Amino acid sequence: MTSIKGKKDLVSAHIFREIYDKYKEKAESERYDVKEYLNNLLEAWLKKEEFIKTFAGHLSVDSLQVNGITLKDTKEKKLVDVYLSDHKLQCELCNSTDCIHAIYVWASPEIGRIPHATGKIEGAAFSEPDQST
Ligand SMILES: [Zn+2]
Repeated sequence: MTSIKGKKDLVSAHIFREIYDKYKEKAESERYDVKEYLNNLLEAWLKKEEFIKTFAGHLSVDSLQVNGITLKDTKEKKLVDVYLSDHKLQCELCNSTDCIHAIYVWASPEIGRIPHATGKIEGAAFSEPDQST
């Protein structure tokens, strides 16, 4: 855990109210100060990213799809589609639900942005085709 030694160790950042309020509620429900909670969360996030990079540094998210994520695999030199199927992530390249590609998608924050995973379409990239014309 990161320790705060003084004010010179602090910076302020602008966080959207909606997001801040959700984290404040989570922090308080776990009896944490929201600043401590957010700092611990961000520190854990950095460590998670460093850890993932050690075994999947060749993978990155290329794009979101309506029902999955396309990864860029620099080792295979291919784009790899990983899509939701019966509450599992299926890799098209490996035809597997537990290969490095599927595991990578489970660990990536973009998983929460797969429209069919959350039941809603968000962002302009997923605008439905206009049926009215
Ligand atoms: Zn795979």
